[in-house]
Amino acid sequence: MPAQTPCPCRSPDDNPRPYADCCGRWHAGPMHLRAPDAKALMRSRYSAYALALTDYLLATWHASTRPPALDLEPGLRWLGLQIRQFQQIDDTHATVEFVARSKLGGRAHRLQEISRFVREGGRWFYIDGQTGSRPPP
Ligand SMILES: [Zn+2]
Repeated sequence: MPAQTPCPCRSPDDNPRPYADCCGRWHAGPMHLRAPDAKALMRSRYSAYALALTDYLLATWHASTRPPALDLEPGLRWLGLQIRQFQQIDDTHATVEFVARSKLGGRAHRLQEISRFVREGGRWFYIDGQTGSRPPP
């Protein structure tokens, strides 16, 4: 992917950042697999889905919940990511609530999830996510 291409993780109202200055830093290069916080990891995992980087997705998945392999839906296009809430619970635990939009076979999908992340050995990992809508306040 060309370095100046806008990163897939942007939401429609964000200023597009070049891929190389955004999630590209975590997908490859000296900072490989070292997203500094759960929010950056969340964005980089979204971008990895958009770019079909299954190795990165598996490498950033916690061993306790990681699937043995990952088959991405063929033809699925990711359209944008919105981070709704980022909660740093303590040094090694965080949650990120997001909405991801995609399109498959002409039909739009909207995924809302609260993902849980844990830090081990200085690296953040995705644990799992709760999908669906939040109860009203
Ligand atoms: Zn990005």
